[in-house]
Amino acid sequence: MSGQIAIVGAGPSGCYLAQALLKLAPDLKVDLIDALPVPFGLTRYGVAADHQGTKAVTRQFARTFERQGARFFGNVRVGRDLSLAQISSAYDATVLAAGLSSDRPLDIPGGDLPQVYGSARLTRALNEHPDAVTLPDLGAHPVILGNGNVAVDLLRILCKNPAEFDGSDLGPGPTAWLAANNIETITIVGRSPAAKAKFDPVMVRELRKLENIHVTMDEPESSSAPEEQKKLQALHDLNGHGTGSVRVNFRFGIQPLAVEGDSRVTGLRVAAVESEEIIGATSLITAIGFMSDGDLNRDTLITKAAPQQGGKLDERLYSAGWFRHGPRGTIPQSRADAQDTAALILSELTIDPARMGATIFAELPDCTDYLGWQQIDRVEQGQSLPGRCRQKITSTKKLINVAKQRGQNL
Ligand SMILES: Cc1cc2nc3c(=O)[nH]c(=O)nc-3n(C[C@H](O)[C@H](O)[C@H](O)COP(=O)(O)OP(=O)(O)OC[C@H]3O[C@@H](n4cnc5c(N)ncnc54)[C@H](O)[C@@H]3O)c2cc1C
Repeated sequence: MSGQIAIVGAGPSGCYLAQALLKLAPDLKVDLIDALPVPFGLTRYGVAADHQGTKAVTRQFARTFERQGARFFGNVRVGRDLSLAQISSAYDATVLAAGLSSDRPLDIPGGDLPQVYGSARLTRALNEHPDAVTLPDLGAHPVILGNGNVAVDLLRILCKNPAEFDGSDLGPGPTAWLAANNIETITIVGRSPAAKAKFDPVMVRELRKLENIHVTMDEPESSSAPEEQKKLQALHDLNGHGTGSVRVNFRFGIQPLAVEGDSRVTGLRVAAVESEEIIGATSLITAIGFMSDGDLNRDTLITKAAPQQGGKLDERLYSAGWFRHGPRGTIPQSRADAQDTAALILSELTIDPARMGATIFAELPDCTDYLGWQQIDRVEQGQSLPGRCRQKITSTKKLINVAKQRGQNL
């Protein structure tokens, strides 16, 4: 009898962990359970459509299912369709790799005005997540609040010409939305000074390829720390770039105080170096971090477990990826973690043959599997429009229906 391990969340951290576990112990039964009918988490529904090189990591994940024998149980939301206790009693060990899918609220006066949009909400809509809401009208002067890669991702996408999405999987709805926007200025506001901004220099350098922008910023300060120097150099090289129609202004060291406007956003009141000012805005996009959606009671589990050891939360219960660390870290970073967590799980594994394992999913209607995902993948790639590498199926119902035709030639 081999051990049975449940991984809740089939995003990058869940997939890397399954890969590491099965490499160390090929006889294990490793089941990845996801709320969505399809695997790969933010690689499919967060990473930008024009970063297909990053999305290509899914080919590695596919091998974990196709060659190493990991199994996929999709359309199963733990905390709604089955409780964590049910999963935990069915498996010898359970790992929570469910990511963080909600936007952190903007906790300043006016932060709840209707034109304040979280980046999770926007990136889900741009990536055609089945639960996404409609893409909103940002108006002529959106302000992006945040200093990380997600903020730069959104900036880049909003500034691109339609032709600059060639080869991507950007869907017809988001393509039309981007083409129709009437953006004139984008101000990107960070709390930290330029040297401490969280984005990678490579993301800043990529902005220099954009045709449609004209960049302005205060000349960044200097620093002697090598990592900070790289960032500052990238910003210095970007400053003044382009003569395009969208004016992009980077602001650093700015503390947001309030969103201005009664029923509509009209600006962002901020504390700059020595005084207050209002940055005019028609909408505000927050890229200030993500939090758990509450289905798995993350806060209680993490607090109870502190200090964390290799992601362990409790007896036979572990965590991985963003669920474990918070909303930091790239896809490759979750790979390194996976080796350690896999070794820890295996060192503590006690196998109980009475545990039911995947039979607990038998009663759930519309549970999808990996063959179902392969069918969805084939259909999506087959129906891609000119200039696109896939056209996503955008509703849960349709995804499930296509998954049910598993293995058929459509
Ligand atoms: C907009 C954006 C752009 C990014 N771009 C890049 C990039 O270009 N390069 C890069 O390296 N990194 C990028 N990242 C970071 C990268 O996406 C993360 O490092 C990585 O996805 C974290 O993996 P994860 O498996 O922990 O979480 P996720 O990818 O979020 O996966 C979690 C999975 O758990 C599932 N789930 C959630 N709740 C439940 C539940 N209750 N029951 C069952 N399943 C559940 C979700 O459906 C999801 O599939 C980006 C992130 C964002 C937000």
